[in-house]
Amino acid sequence: MHFIDLAAQYEHLKDKINARIQTVLDKGHYIMGPEVEELEHKLAEYVGVKHAITCANGTDALTLALMVLEVKAGDAVFCPTFTFFATAEVIAYEGANPVFVDSDPDTFNLCPKDLEKRIQKVIAEGKLNPKAIIAVDLFGLPANYEEIQKVAEKYNLKLVEDAAQGFGGSIDGKRAGSFGDIATTSFFPAKPLGAYGDGGAIFTNDDKLAHLLKSYRVHGKGADKYDNVRIGMNSRLDTIQAAILLEKLAVFPEELIKRNEIASLYSEYFCNLYKVPRIPKGYSSSWAQYTLISPTRDADMMMFQKNNIPTLVYYKTCMHQQAAFKELGYTDTEFPVASELAKTVFSLPMSPYISDDDMKLILNNTNF
Ligand SMILES: *Cc1c(COP(=O)(O)O)cnc(C)c1O
Repeated sequence: MHFIDLAAQYEHLKDKINARIQTVLDKGHYIMGPEVEELEHKLAEYVGVKHAITCANGTDALTLALMVLEVKAGDAVFCPTFTFFATAEVIAYEGANPVFVDSDPDTFNLCPKDLEKRIQKVIAEGKLNPKAIIAVDLFGLPANYEEIQKVAEKYNLKLVEDAAQGFGGSIDGKRAGSFGDIATTSFFPAKPLGAYGDGGAIFTNDDKLAHLLKSYRVHGKGADKYDNVRIGMNSRLDTIQAAILLEKLAVFPEELIKRNEIASLYSEYFCNLYKVPRIPKGYSSSWAQYTLISPTRDADMMMFQKNNIPTLVYYKTCMHQQAAFKELGYTDTEFPVASELAKTVFSLPMSPYISDDDMKLILNNTNF
């Protein structure tokens, strides 16, 4: 059994994906070919935003977002401590200061109340300029944008949605990728919508930001790529990856239904044994991960392993615990919820292509 079964998905889409790749090879338009533009249109339509701008990966997508929002040295950017490293890394990469925020114990996402406390603390200290918030749709569930947006407006901060895991999720029908000033996603193969290599995208309704993002992703181009009006980067999505993603996006809505069915079965079965994920009313998850909470995590994972069921821990180490951020001087006591989550979470296999036999094995044959 695989934790994420990419081979089964390829088997299902093989003819279509192969044909799409062959078209790119026949035409030889490897960089910014027509498939890239087609994908950008379809992504914007799916997410429900004016502009989708593809790029080389989800980390670059975040970096480009911070570049166009003019995040710089001396700025404070608030983000959850319980997330993947890239969320916090890009803040430091831009020379700004990451300020970590504790999590909500039920949704794993940024706690809006703690966010406001951290902002007030930065203002009171008067050393950093509060500039932006990066909220993360952890494990596929959109963050609490209603509350986070209110805080962003109150303190005049820019809001970035890191939807690397959230793509496909929604709140009251409004899709992940459409929250905040700018949203970003990743097409890393294991994400809900994954390519066969690296890829990413940025979403916005703002024409000016979209124009800037298109310039920044190609060496700060002006009228053309040999007219360079600002310092940018080289971060394009390969045409072949765009071609693959077009076929995967076409079946993505069906896959999401399947992911949700699997998650429902898991929750029904495991709710008496573990704390299962809570999906607030009106919210829908893309189930990038199906994550349980158990005080006896290590023993539980061993039991799954004995039954040949792969499990993984996302994430064992919070940002405030990472060696790279040691100099910020945070301690676990400042993040009681996230520190506890890091000790107790583990994730079950999640893929729209889990076979019935594997599902039976996970649900019935686990020896409790
Ligand atoms: C995967 C991920 C990223 C980075 O995406 P890459 O495409 O791997 O660069 C950023 N943020 C979160 C929350 C992620 O899960």
